Amino acid sequence: MPAHGGLDARLSYRHPHALPAGTLVRVPLGRRTVLGVVWPEAPDGAAPAREALRPVQEVLSALPPLPDEWCALVAFAARYYQRSVGEVALAALPPALRALDAAGLQRRLARLPGAGVAAPAAPAPPLTPDQQAAVQAIAAADRPVLLFGATGSGKTEVYLQAAAQVLQRDAQAQVLMLVPEINLTPQLEARVRARFGAAVVTLHSGLTPAQRLRHWLAAHLGQARVVLGTRTAVWASLPRLRLIVVDEEHDPSYKSQEGARHSARDLAVVRAHRLAAHGCRVVLGSATPSLESWHAAQQGRYRLVELPDRIGGAARPVLRLLDLRQQPRGALLAPALLEAIQARVARGEQALLLLNRRGYAPVLACADCGWTSGCPHCSAHLVFHKAERALRCHHCGHAAPVPRACPECGNVDLVPLGRGTQRLEEHLEQALADLRRPDGTPVRIGRLDADTARTPQALQQRLAEVHRGDVDVLVGTQMVAKGHDFRRITLVAAVNPDGALFASDWRAPERLFALLLQAGGRAGRDAAFMAAQGSRAELWVQTAYPQHPLFAALARHDYPGFAAQQLEERRAAGMPPFAHQALLRAEARTLEAALAWLRLAAAQADGLPGRAHVTLYAPVPMTMVRLAGVERAQLLLESARRPALQALLAAWTPRLHALRGASAARGLLRWAIDVDPLGY
Ligand code: ADP
Ligand code: ZN
Ligand code: ZN
Repeated sequence: MPAHGGLDARLSYRHPHALPAGTLVRVPLGRRTVLGVVWPEAPDGAAPAREALRPVQEVLSALPPLPDEWCALVAFAARYYQRSVGEVALAALPPALRALDAAGLQRRLARLPGAGVAAPAAPAPPLTPDQQAAVQAIAAADRPVLLFGATGSGKTEVYLQAAAQVLQRDAQAQVLMLVPEINLTPQLEARVRARFGAAVVTLHSGLTPAQRLRHWLAAHLGQARVVLGTRTAVWASLPRLRLIVVDEEHDPSYKSQEGARHSARDLAVVRAHRLAAHGCRVVLGSATPSLESWHAAQQGRYRLVELPDRIGGAARPVLRLLDLRQQPRGALLAPALLEAIQARVARGEQALLLLNRRGYAPVLACADCGWTSGCPHCSAHLVFHKAERALRCHHCGHAAPVPRACPECGNVDLVPLGRGTQRLEEHLEQALADLRRPDGTPVRIGRLDADTARTPQALQQRLAEVHRGDVDVLVGTQMVAKGHDFRRITLVAAVNPDGALFASDWRAPERLFALLLQAGGRAGRDAAFMAAQGSRAELWVQTAYPQHPLFAALARHDYPGFAAQQLEERRAAGMPPFAHQALLRAEARTLEAALAWLRLAAAQADGLPGRAHVTLYAPVPMTMVRLAGVERAQLLLESARRPALQALLAAWTPRLHALRGASAARGLLRWAIDVDPLGY
């Protein structure tokens, strides 16, 4: 099977000896030579005559075959996500492997450092009784463990000690640790390395192709004992995988938005399940589990393990709601919030301000004629970036200089509408200009968003500044809410989270709750510091809807209550996790062409297996219908029965491929199926 993108079918080749499944080979395809994997089952249909087959050109015999379990995972994902085995396998292997012949591979292997030491480099702290119980529950579990604990409750320490136990018991065992984002949480990587030393490799998109190949090889050869990585790492070849950890399992970044659109979290569960007979366990950890995982735990399909207290007894932040309807109009920060920030900074504490929009203002507008800055390629506004004097589209990247006057009426008074992180930063610089820190030096404001952290180095630098205490007030997008351990932050504020309460995406409240709880968790992490300061951790939220039930649950730090209420709504509405969904997405030059193709596609589903149990909704334009000059529409499929939906998709997909020449496909650019879609 050549790992080749566009191919739907596996291909047959001949070789003098039988090759074990999983063997990596190089085979001819057209006039090129490509990487292939010897696949366990032969392609469907009659085997072609041996003489008619082209020979395998080269066997990469320096490498052991990919484990059966790896091939099975790829085959499962291909089937489940409706892609070809070849496409999934290709995406699952490191890109640099594709270009290597046997000689090149030998050279790479010779340069590998060899097996790493798993001996603990840093001593592990003694576990609390709750943590101990969690580690034991993981070792004994006969199903996935959902580790539910607030930020700072010691989940990571549980992962590390569960991993250490697995590695000690079996001198070859391997552990896979998945995290949503590696660059945002350098402390976690440092902690894992401090514990497991040279036995750790990372796998994520920030590595160079050569590094990625080296790390992949180390895992495949069993030299790496711990693989720490982002969602792509779920594909690592790990011949002796015995534990999988999925940290922050609710994080949407586990769901890929391209290719097979797989969920690395879900595949981790599948993978561990297949290896259960070998003693492999899987732990999903979160302070705000996805409603899917929470529901599974309620049903007993997952084992719920709780860490109820923050380590060191740090108090959870107190929620302070500010009713925006009672604040001075147009104020970015309510006077009470600004005063609280000033008081804390003057005492030597730090504040964190969350505003989920970068740039200066989301729109530039003309007060005379009502012109607004729209993107010529998308159904979206161009965001005003003041420092760069530019208008930028955050969806397609289109950039234009700020016009001197309104393009419609010539009015020179263009006004920025709404607020972004740049504007908030500017506002704070003015509002805190006369304030001094305890040592008499001026207050420093920092900003962390995709603009100030364009490169991983820039990001590390920003994070280090906050850690060193160089920054007193940090303004940022949701990037700042992730697992950083800023010791002196005592106040966190969400400046304007209301958009998420009424967003068209029905998962938005779930995300907002997770974000606010996680952001709040940045405050008051250091109990000793809090006691010395005599300070109390606070989470401030500015909202026009203080009565919203989400905030009541947030005030109680009551994720179970929030989840119960959300699940009840979902159950009543027949939404996931009580229903299973797939989306068929189409992109075309015109919206009409996209919709017409989707209608044709829907008709193709008639009479197929499972159809009677699956609802096909009418094709609709996507919420953001135009992106980078392409019109987009989608069709939702929903069923209370996953097998029915799967059966329908399996029979339907080949028919969709066969529509290629149909007249209704004119103007269609591409289509894709998204199984278990996250947002739409
Ligand atoms: P989480 O992953 O739930 O946010 P961590 O494992 O990072 O929690 O723990 C929070 C803090 O407490 C960290 O600084 C960690 O080093 C520390 N910690 C965790 N477990 C223990 C323990 N058993 N004894 C002492 N300190 C601990
Ligand atoms: Zn105008
Ligand atoms: Zn655009």
